[in-house]
Amino acid sequence: MIVHVVEGAPCSGKTSFVENKMTQQDIVYDYDKLVTALGKRGGHTVDKHISHSVALKIRQQIIDMLKRGWVSPDNAYIITRSATKALKDSLEGLTVEYHKMEATLEECLARLALDNDRPDKEAWTEIITAYFEENDKEDKKMDKLEKFKSLSIGKADAEKDIDLINKYSVEPLTPEEVYCFSVVLCDNDIDRDTERFVDESLDALAPLFLGKTGICDHRWNAREQKARIYRCEVEDTGKKNKLGEPLKVLRACAYMLASQTEIVDAIKAGIMKEVSVGVSMGACTCSICGAKMGWSGCRGEEEHEKGKKYDGKLCIGELKDAKDAYEFSFVAVPAQPGAGVTKSLESLSEQVEDVKANLDSVPLESRDALMLELQKYKESDEDRKKREKSVAKAKEIKEKYQK
Ligand SMILES: [Zn+2]
Repeated sequence: MIVHVVEGAPCSGKTSFVENKMTQQDIVYDYDKLVTALGKRGGHTVDKHISHSVALKIRQQIIDMLKRGWVSPDNAYIITRSATKALKDSLEGLTVEYHKMEATLEECLARLALDNDRPDKEAWTEIITAYFEENDKEDKKMDKLEKFKSLSIGKADAEKDIDLINKYSVEPLTPEEVYCFSVVLCDNDIDRDTERFVDESLDALAPLFLGKTGICDHRWNAREQKARIYRCEVEDTGKKNKLGEPLKVLRACAYMLASQTEIVDAIKAGIMKEVSVGVSMGACTCSICGAKMGWSGCRGEEEHEKGKKYDGKLCIGELKDAKDAYEFSFVAVPAQPGAGVTKSLESLSEQVEDVKANLDSVPLESRDALMLELQKYKESDEDRKKREKSVAKAKEIKEKYQK
């Protein structure tokens, strides 16, 4: 017996694919059809969560029966939107073939128009469009990711490291001509986006950062001031991260010309508060089920929410498959340094935390829009007005659902 997992967007042709292949000796589990059949006629206007969890239980029941040999069809077909890790795990021990439907959005919508089993065209158009938007967004999101971290600066020994430094400098330098420091670029702890780099990602990023440059927040410093990374290593801190695992950090040693220590002076003066690193990661996946992670929750069938616990395990986005590392930059407080500025920044981040808290009443799709606005708040350090607007917009989304 072979189990065929057929995945793809709604109306991408999964059902037709199966109908063309299957015989009288086969059985088929069709998630969309089942959810529709379990609820009120007219499609997804039913309480999705009830029919959804019942449909998943039925799927598990079928898989159990196949495993025990209580039923033995020639082929079993499982039609689903995405083959999640949970599904793959539950099929272990069985012979499985995966089939992915590669239909475009236009093809799916054209098929929807002709589909008599889906009378609720409007609702399905929304579901299909959301499916493709989500996939697009995730592809784009992986282009370049920016992560912020509180500044942790250490010393580095120019005398000892000068040979290494000269591998990266255009002209040979003496220890007296350089200023060296070390800085933590990222770690394996849970960050503000409820994401973290897994240990393998830190290992993979270390060589990618070699030779990359560090700059001051570009708005703050117009002059060419660059530090260059000549060493980058994963360091075991001996401490534990929030998950109780050994806390590992990616520490870079960088040099700059001793005559241009503007970065260092700014750090000493307390103007620089954070370091931001640009990386490109191949995947961000759910720590519970392994499905793709969206802004606020995973795209697996169980839609795990970031920051929530499932059977005692915290749901976070795991950043994997490091593709590239870009420059790092020191981020100054977002205005001329002075009294009051830091304080109002804190109150804005307090507001952000406030919006992020207790989002239960906001539906997952709208929560994504909300988190997206909050993400913008963090990215555009230069423009306070823009950030305030984003937070206000995020607040608006939340308040809409909290009446
Ligand atoms: Zn998940």
